[in-house]
Amino acid sequence: MLRHATTLIKSAVGLIVLIALAGPAPAADRPNIVFIFTDDHASHSLSCYGSKINKTPSLDRIANEGMLFKNSFCTNSICGPSRAVILTGKHSHLNGFIRNGNTFNGAQQTFPKLLRKAGYQTAIVGKWHLGSAPTGFDYYQVLRGQGPYYNPPMIENGQPKKHVGYTTDIITDIALDYLKTGRDPKKPFMLMFQHKAPHRNWQPGPKHLTMYDDVTIPEPDNLFDDYSGRGTAAHTQDMSIAKTMTANDLKLTQPRGFTPEQLKVWNAAYEPKNKAFREAKLEGKALVQWKYQRYIKDYLRCIASVDDNVGRVLDYLDETGLAKNTIVIYSSDQGFYLGDHGWFDKRFMYEESYRMPLMVRWPGKVAPGSVNTDLVSNLDYAETFLDIAGVEIPQDMQGRSLVPVLTGNTPKDWYKSLYYQYYEFPGPHSVRRHYGLRTDRYKLMHFYNLDEWELYDLQTDPREMKSVYADPANAELVKRLKLELARSQKQYQVPDDSGSISKDGKRKTQPRKRKA
Ligand code: CA
Repeated sequence: MLRHATTLIKSAVGLIVLIALAGPAPAADRPNIVFIFTDDHASHSLSCYGSKINKTPSLDRIANEGMLFKNSFCTNSICGPSRAVILTGKHSHLNGFIRNGNTFNGAQQTFPKLLRKAGYQTAIVGKWHLGSAPTGFDYYQVLRGQGPYYNPPMIENGQPKKHVGYTTDIITDIALDYLKTGRDPKKPFMLMFQHKAPHRNWQPGPKHLTMYDDVTIPEPDNLFDDYSGRGTAAHTQDMSIAKTMTANDLKLTQPRGFTPEQLKVWNAAYEPKNKAFREAKLEGKALVQWKYQRYIKDYLRCIASVDDNVGRVLDYLDETGLAKNTIVIYSSDQGFYLGDHGWFDKRFMYEESYRMPLMVRWPGKVAPGSVNTDLVSNLDYAETFLDIAGVEIPQDMQGRSLVPVLTGNTPKDWYKSLYYQYYEFPGPHSVRRHYGLRTDRYKLMHFYNLDEWELYDLQTDPREMKSVYADPANAELVKRLKLELARSQKQYQVPDDSGSISKDGKRKTQPRKRKA
């Protein structure tokens, strides 16, 4: 009897110990998140997206071992705003960061804060670019503002930090240091590993300065677009390779902030090429073609360095066994024109800069090599991260969790359209303000200060060379899309003074002032 009682007590103690060990939520059950993010990396310069101009073997690994999203977009194609949308899960007009130069209100709700509250260790390394100091992170080391490609001054948890070397390599070294020694291995972590590259002015690292020297990169078929099929905005932009690109962009001037050794290596690579260019005295079309080659090669060289460095992190995750319980996500704040329409830069809702690359590797959950074509956007990231971690999603976030999509169970009521709005005018590159809607087939755009509409059938005109808005055959379609646009603006609480249209699809002639 006594023996039986002792056994019972032992069992009870054992059970209590087991319960104590089991809760709260064991770290091993909650996956780590590595969110790799770059700046201005267009999906048509990733080989997993079918790039015709380069190879990205390390980045392709994420797609090959996970899911590639073919219809991934941004809500506002510009750097700071895209980051703010990702942090908050809210459109620009609600998170308050509508254009570059704004200051992010770090007191507001963000997904890193919610993950941290739920017991995740949170860190951000690299580009931040939101004006205010990062909030919601246990550890941060970020570039000051845009940050240079070489010898970047950084800020580590509020303190200045100096570095010598190539920024893409340095950011990766810091990220690896964090993974190795900067965290408590017993707790799950969320690391934002964010590069400056391949942002303008596209300065390659020392290892890639002469990559592509012996090849000619294919030109896009609309490098010499005359914009005849489109409205005022395409004609009045200031972002063409022909007119806007500077000597500094083209590496025809000496780089600044380099060490003498770095400058020597740089000049050994560029001076012979620049000498040949000066002697050729190119003009007209040939000059644009030369500029395109210089630009695209430097852009791709910057990506080659990102690719190498992403490979270092993936290898580390493999070697330590962390890969098994770590979700790896790759994305970039928006796309970019790689000579498409004769342009560089972004901002427009036209496909090349509207698209964001998105690949997700989640061992055991996401089928390797899967390809998804659902409409998704950066508005969905915050909720996805929270869902992955099992954290409750706040009602006021405006996206949707991608977790069901990732596991092959896209809900029946998934997005039928996505809403877009760009505000940065007047501003650099003079792209007029516009909002718009994209469905799986059509894109309706409204340059609202000009009151000009454009419509594209992406099935018959994927390069968006001719707006078919004025075609009477499309009247019903336009009406339907305008109603959907009005519904979206209402759903997302878009203020009227940004040019919303009323429920009947007509533009309001007397926009109300935005409420304070
Ligand atoms: Ca950007």
